[in-house]
Amino acid sequence: MTTLPPSVDLSRHPCFNAKVQGKFGRVHLPVAPKCNIKCNYCNRKYDCVNESRPGVTSTILNPEQALDYMEKVLIAEPRISVAGIAGPGDPFANADATLTTMQLLRQKYPDLILCLSSNGLGLAPHVDEVADIGVSHVTVTVNGIDPEITKNIYTFVKDGNVIYRHVQAAELLIARQIKAIEKLKSRGVTVKVNFIAIPGVNDHHAVTTAKAMAKLGVDLFNCMAMLPNAGTPFEDVIEPDKPMMNSLRNKCEKHLPQMRHCKRCRADAVGMLGKDKSGEMAGCLKACATMPAKTDKPRPYVAVASLEGMLVNQHLGETTNFLIYKQEGKEFTLVEERAAPIPGGGIGRWQAMTRLFHDCRAIMVSEMGESPRGIFEKAGITPVTMSGFIDAGLKAIYEGNDLSIFKRRAKKSCGSSCLGTGTGCG
Ligand code: SF4
Ligand code: SF4
Repeated sequence: MTTLPPSVDLSRHPCFNAKVQGKFGRVHLPVAPKCNIKCNYCNRKYDCVNESRPGVTSTILNPEQALDYMEKVLIAEPRISVAGIAGPGDPFANADATLTTMQLLRQKYPDLILCLSSNGLGLAPHVDEVADIGVSHVTVTVNGIDPEITKNIYTFVKDGNVIYRHVQAAELLIARQIKAIEKLKSRGVTVKVNFIAIPGVNDHHAVTTAKAMAKLGVDLFNCMAMLPNAGTPFEDVIEPDKPMMNSLRNKCEKHLPQMRHCKRCRADAVGMLGKDKSGEMAGCLKACATMPAKTDKPRPYVAVASLEGMLVNQHLGETTNFLIYKQEGKEFTLVEERAAPIPGGGIGRWQAMTRLFHDCRAIMVSEMGESPRGIFEKAGITPVTMSGFIDAGLKAIYEGNDLSIFKRRAKKSCGSSCLGTGTGCG
């Protein structure tokens, strides 16, 4: 199940609950510039405040800038109840920025509904972290479940360094989308599917797709008219009109509830649905984007792997709850416990931990492998392997003492050849 703070009121999502669209709004944080597929209707263009459609944003933010921008947005429009990432590319082609932003938001705003919108290609490996952070709503754009139909919608699908085209691209994307949706539902995430209706290409396939999505447990179906964008392969396709869309939605409704109030928002949309303030907020957004990256951001805490709260005595990979300490005068205070990401997922698990401990200067464990050690170091978190009293380790860390003594002790106590694969001791 998702890890949601009890104060989150899920009924306040104006896209998933049309009844509250006049009461609550949403903001899209444009932290995801890259995409891993190429849809034939997509034209991503920056620096355009007059155009309102998906893929457009005035600028790109990094996660810390997004957090600052969120603060300003809530002052300008306190009715914002949802923060989402919807591009301008795909959130999971920019997984690190996406998940760090969600983590920062969750820690600072426990009431906020968190939402993501993806093509689904790179989503499945991150579902557990998404749910652990407390992202409650995810949209996946599924333009069909028959690769012979959807092969005409994508120029390419890029998986790692391999580029797929035609039916292979379509098959891979559909398989990944289904896997991602199944995982999301197994973790209790509310899932909406966007279906872009493209006349003559996949409009006849909407009902079949809605039926298949219903079987997967999808909660809401958003049948959207394709916008013909200049400079794209589908620029000359005629946009479906309202009667056609209403007819499609009525047929799809036999299988799934329909979203009928989608405004096809920008990647930096902000405000109430239909009363977008992205023009008004563009100056603020751009000002936030020029803020220097906080390389010296405060890291007041240390994460500790301990069974009983006295000794450092757990390996990185076996620890389910980390103790978070901070220094107060000459004392060290236990601030909170943080649940570790669930095992599995290879290096993704260590990357998830670096996000979990973004405000920690060090992590103390009895042992960890070279792979997670390198990942923590790169993220600015000092990995300390030691055995002994927690207080002794904390004292050395906060006083900036030589930590190699702890490393030597820990090595003596562990004879295993640990590879840090994400499933073992780490
Ligand atoms: S997934 Fe989204 S950003 Fe990527 S090409 Fe398609 S519409 Fe554009
Ligand atoms: S594009 Fe549609 S679903 Fe997404 S925020 Fe706008 S109204 Fe909501």
